[in-house]
Amino acid sequence: MSRHRIVVVGAGFGGLTMGAALRAAGIDDFVILEEGDDVGGVWRENTYPGSACDVPSHLYSFGFDPYRDAEVRFPDQGSILGYMRAVADRNGLRRHLRSNTSVTSATYVDADGTWTLTTADGQLLHADAVVWAVGQLHRPAVPDLPGAHSFTGRAFHSARWDHDADLTGHVAVVGTGSSAAQMVPELARTATTVTLYQRTPPWVLPKPADRFGPVSRWALAHLPGLHRLYRAGLYLGADLLLAPITREGWSARPARWLALAHLRRQVPDRALRDKLTPDYRIGEKRILVDSRFYPALTLPHVELVTDPVDRVTGDGIRTVTGTHRHADVIVWATGFRAPEFFSGITVRGRNGVDLHAHWAERGRPEAFFGLAVPGFPSMYLIAGPHSFTPTNSNPSMKEHQVRYIMRCLELNARLGAPTAVTPAAMAAYRRRLDAALARTVWPGGVRSWFKLDSDGPVTNPWPAGARKFARLLDAHAPADAFTAVPVRDVPAR
Ligand code: NAP
Repeated sequence: MSRHRIVVVGAGFGGLTMGAALRAAGIDDFVILEEGDDVGGVWRENTYPGSACDVPSHLYSFGFDPYRDAEVRFPDQGSILGYMRAVADRNGLRRHLRSNTSVTSATYVDADGTWTLTTADGQLLHADAVVWAVGQLHRPAVPDLPGAHSFTGRAFHSARWDHDADLTGHVAVVGTGSSAAQMVPELARTATTVTLYQRTPPWVLPKPADRFGPVSRWALAHLPGLHRLYRAGLYLGADLLLAPITREGWSARPARWLALAHLRRQVPDRALRDKLTPDYRIGEKRILVDSRFYPALTLPHVELVTDPVDRVTGDGIRTVTGTHRHADVIVWATGFRAPEFFSGITVRGRNGVDLHAHWAERGRPEAFFGLAVPGFPSMYLIAGPHSFTPTNSNPSMKEHQVRYIMRCLELNARLGAPTAVTPAAMAAYRRRLDAALARTVWPGGVRSWFKLDSDGPVTNPWPAGARKFARLLDAHAPADAFTAVPVRDVPAR
């Protein structure tokens, strides 16, 4: 059994930000539990060929430890993971990290206002506060298709890449999200054929070159402050140009024109273009930023199949039209069970209330500022419900939440007691959130991981710009929404 002031669960972007903030505040009594063997979160898990980020590197980094490179404009998986490892080293987080440690349950102890966590290997940890940084895109969603178990080749999810699989034969990819779009051009280099099964065509915006040109390289290397200015410009630009796309109306038109022009330019064949033309509003799903996906689809050995998949056979995939296509390898690029926050973890708050039961009663997962739940004192979420930005920097969103969580921890220390967000504050926030969500294209839009069961209530994205999220949290005093929770024996910390 070990005892800590704070237990952080997860060592991806969220856990690293939290750890760095605790260290910066002089708090050393914390541990970061990570179920994998190192830091990195999704960037450690997604090792599929072509795995990369369609958000510029400078934007996709922390404000407290910014990315400074004059070469790479868009990072690949390896460079993001390298950056995250360097952040862990530079900020002294390694000695707080306990890897290969998977949390299975967390229980609030009413008697003394602390949390007890259990791990898969039977460890017990006690903490005054727990911070969940377990991410949204971590639990693979693999469709339960008839015949899937009869397949004799290799079949695996995009985030669980089988590096022993032979990719020189016939490769089938199911799904056309960001992961599929990035891997198809790479798979097409080695495979005899690539068959891509598309259910819904994505909206795709052009992606600039991955590397800076000579002038930008020189300027970034020599002009003081330019990295910071560039990052600030990207942050502002994403908010001004991309965030409005997710709202109804004229603000989405320029992006729609750009995406259709990109498709026309890259796919000369009319029939293929028709298959790739979305028939829903841009922004309803996460938009892809990619300039290699469409050209790969025009290659003679790459086929785009739009007939729905009927079943998997011993050696391929059959569609509802009865056509069978041979496959040696099937890649499920079918996304993640993102709305199932805390899937596989039992969390019990005050009076033993189960978090999943609480959310089921509320009709969806929800949290105050995406980070606190009434009845769950001194428990904080990073990247909880409605705090993912589909149009800006998610590392920044996590930093905004961590700043607020740090102020909550200060409040607890000041009051000498655990605090919980009040139901009234949550209800007021929910009303405000719902009004903002109603102005987006998500409710009633196409199926996506933004919504419970793909087409239920919106659960994951934040419905406005990242700056608005930051302003909202920075301007808010935790004492206005959180109250002390009475305990018999308050821990003396
Ligand atoms: P995704 O965007 O959720 O896409 C999953 C795809 O699988 C969709 O095209 C979906 O079709 C399809 N699908 C699911 N079940 C299916 C079935 N039974 N039959 C046929 N098709 C099926 O997943 P992802 O591509 O892994 O990306 C997930 C998220 O990860 C992204 O939205 C993004 O936030 C993040 N990501 C980011 C980057 C980056 O560059 N920043 C890169 C990779 C991933 P429907 O649309 O019809 O449901």
